[in-house]
Amino acid sequence: MQASAFRRALLRWFRRSGRDLPWRRTRDPYHILVSEFMLQQTQVSRVEGYYRRFIERYPTIGALASASPAMVRESWEGLGYYRRVENLHRLARNVVRDRQGVIPSDPVELRRLPGVGRYTAGAVASFAYERPTAAVDTNVARVLRRAFLPRLGRGASLTQWIWNTAEEIIPRRGKTAWAFNQALMELGALICTAREARCGVCPVRKVCATGKRVNSKR
Ligand code: SF4
Repeated sequence: MQASAFRRALLRWFRRSGRDLPWRRTRDPYHILVSEFMLQQTQVSRVEGYYRRFIERYPTIGALASASPAMVRESWEGLGYYRRVENLHRLARNVVRDRQGVIPSDPVELRRLPGVGRYTAGAVASFAYERPTAAVDTNVARVLRRAFLPRLGRGASLTQWIWNTAEEIIPRRGKTAWAFNQALMELGALICTAREARCGVCPVRKVCATGKRVNSKR
């Protein structure tokens, strides 16, 4: 695995081409949580406006916790998958009641909160607290699968392989890990998409197992 060459190429590209998204300008764990809940099942372009309005209306976890369920649901109207906002609201109330309003930084603690799975826990730990933690969503899983082409033995699980790989290749420095996780997601969203792997314009094609195959056939 050419992990260091992969990291370098990906980070270089992200510095040049990463999108300027509102949740990339903050390290506020509550704001990151809101963005992560909204981004589940929903595209970035739809989320941006909702995110801004929601944060304006509920700028702190305390403001969200003290709002009524009907008001909170109304702020989510049109975004769909209302289970997400119910969980987010419950999470806010739990954190205010049991943790003095402080969202934990440890992924194990984060997973105890309503609606927080392994991915969201990793994302909050990395994007808010800059901890070198893997965060594997569907975009990241696809990029890692194509880039490192697993050969699975009997009984081995692809999901486990993907998480192990993500943990192995993540930079140890928190700030760099932040950028690396963002970059992996960005590559999966913009270039190595579910519909098409655009290897010809991909920044990691020289160190990606699939990209190298495509290149050698040209
Ligand atoms: S080279 Fe192709 S398969 Fe590999 S990460 Fe880039 S787009 Fe995906």
